[in-house]
Amino acid sequence: MKETNAKGVCYYSVPAWGTQSTVAHGLFTRTGGVSPPPYASLNVGPKGGDTLAHVRENLKRAARVLSIPAERIFCAAQVHGDRIHQVSGGEPSIFGPDAPLQGDGLVTVEKGLYLGILTADCVPLLLLDPRRSVVGAVHAGWRGTAKGIAGKAVLKMCDEFGCESSDILVALGPAIGPCCYVVGDEVARAFVEKDRETRPFLQPEGSGRWKLNLEGINRHQLISAGIRDSNITPSSLCTSCRKDLFFSVRADGEPTGRQVALIGLRP
Ligand SMILES: [Zn+2]
Repeated sequence: MKETNAKGVCYYSVPAWGTQSTVAHGLFTRTGGVSPPPYASLNVGPKGGDTLAHVRENLKRAARVLSIPAERIFCAAQVHGDRIHQVSGGEPSIFGPDAPLQGDGLVTVEKGLYLGILTADCVPLLLLDPRRSVVGAVHAGWRGTAKGIAGKAVLKMCDEFGCESSDILVALGPAIGPCCYVVGDEVARAFVEKDRETRPFLQPEGSGRWKLNLEGINRHQLISAGIRDSNITPSSLCTSCRKDLFFSVRADGEPTGRQVALIGLRP
């Protein structure tokens, strides 16, 4: 992934996708915003206690560097589930006054609509089928990953829009790495009992403790869903090791902010 710094707003992107003027995408960091600690500074999460005016300005700044309108960014209320919604822009977003749509995966073919995922350790995934002009965005924490949300998003794109999984490109954004993510037996079991092939992504760390590689499991699930290994771009940046650059619930504790990952088709 390529790092870009635009007036202090730092974000990551997949260079091969950027050559397509039809797609806007960016995996943002915490830098370049207006929020004070503990939300410093590009916090885009409206529910964590930061003032809404700050969140709106931060969203505007992220939108500006991608040259997209902030009011066309759509984020659902993320609930650590595995529901994937097809959205067209009329659904209530977390930035509006109405009760927002709930779900952790979004797909669309709507041009000029930009899907957003908020994270602070969980894995943000951006999906793109350049052949059929379909985009998707997924929030995958351990619960969503244990439910196989990445593979379900691929399936949704194939079912709803006739995508071929071999055409779909995926960006795996910055998330907490196995260096910093220690979980208990019950979490480890949630993976291995469902899919034995996830075992290599759990390294023993003392009695009843495991280092969990969330990015690795998501990559494994994507490949199982027919995504080509060469079409997956990981960031391999740990949000907890790099809390200077990213919000991290594990490193910062709550309250902290949320960074945003965005993707959409330009009109
Ligand atoms: Zn780390």
